[in-house]
Amino acid sequence: MQPFVHETAACHVRFGHGSLAALPDVLAGMNCQRGVLITTPRQGSALNGLGHGAEGRAVVGSIPLARMHTPVDVTEEALVEVRAFGADCLVALGGGSAIGLGKALALRTGLPQIAIPTTYAGSEMTPVLGQTENGRKTTLRNPIVQPKAVIYDVDLTLSMPADVSAASGMNAMAHAVEGLYARNANPLVRLMAQDAVRAMAAALPAIVADGQDREARAQALYAAWLCGIVLASAGMAIHHKLCHTLGGTFGLPHAQTHAVVLPHALAYNASHVPEAMDALACALNTDDPVAALHGLLRGLPIPQSLGALGMPHDGVARATALALEDAYWNPRPLEEAPLRALLEQAWQGPGAVGASA
Ligand code: NAD
Repeated sequence: MQPFVHETAACHVRFGHGSLAALPDVLAGMNCQRGVLITTPRQGSALNGLGHGAEGRAVVGSIPLARMHTPVDVTEEALVEVRAFGADCLVALGGGSAIGLGKALALRTGLPQIAIPTTYAGSEMTPVLGQTENGRKTTLRNPIVQPKAVIYDVDLTLSMPADVSAASGMNAMAHAVEGLYARNANPLVRLMAQDAVRAMAAALPAIVADGQDREARAQALYAAWLCGIVLASAGMAIHHKLCHTLGGTFGLPHAQTHAVVLPHALAYNASHVPEAMDALACALNTDDPVAALHGLLRGLPIPQSLGALGMPHDGVARATALALEDAYWNPRPLEEAPLRALLEQAWQGPGAVGASA
């Protein structure tokens, strides 16, 4: 066995149906009295009934300002409100956007954060924050932004629409897939990644068929937790770098872009990552993991190509050039022709599949 390194950040995790009821206890455990809810406008009413518990510990106000990609001007507006509430804890409830704003506020205030994820993005388990200013997204890694506690309440995911669930689940699965072949992966990370792929791949079609399937929802949220740990523990490669470039350059939606690119990115790396392919074959119960991911994507009610997501066709050449400019590690070296072919196939979607290798 190869030598390895594994680091675990201290984080209190509660998982279950109805586990939001534990919020007062979690606040008490952190010795906090005045939590403030950070969320999106769409989930702003979540404050109702939240967190009034023993010894007067409560969530005292709501800041429903979170937006995709954590714009710095929004963070500054929210910061004024956090101070006005006299908050001693940030309670971020929602998807990656709400948790991103919570992290940006934790960075600026040093306040502890409780994350209550309602999608499968996985941000709650990572010390990573992406922020946007003047149209540029930059990413930092700092333990201060890592939530101190995470409450996974399966019931909060029941309202997630099928398309959001599907895209978000594929976004999570991308963390696990890249974790399987990461340079700094270790046996524990690979175990988590493999089980995450198994659970998420089984859960997503069931959720699309019936969003109220509580067991499938639990499996997907469990998988999302594992995917978040993998994302925090292992370096990501071509898939994440391409999605970052595509999102930033063409303004494509985050989770949907991950969903479209994932099978193509795996096809690019497949011949160079035999152990990861064996783990994926086992997790997906197939002898062709690339085809299985294409099949999974085709069954989901989300855009199937970068073209359908609004990327112009000449973006294929631009994205190829940008990906080659930004040197980073990938198990298969980055070469212009196959990279362009990957992006061309992802731009065209299912009709182009079959030529990938
Ligand atoms: P999101 O948080 O933007 O949520 C999408 C929409 O779904 C929002 O309108 C939200 O209000 C709504 N929604 C969320 N949960 C719902 C529910 N249960 N029921 C009904 N509606 C619900 O999308 P996302 O994909 O979760 O997050 C994307 C953001 O997260 C991006 O900015 C991305 O960069 C970031 N992210 C960061 C990390 C990290 O480690 N830093 C990891 C993954 C994603």
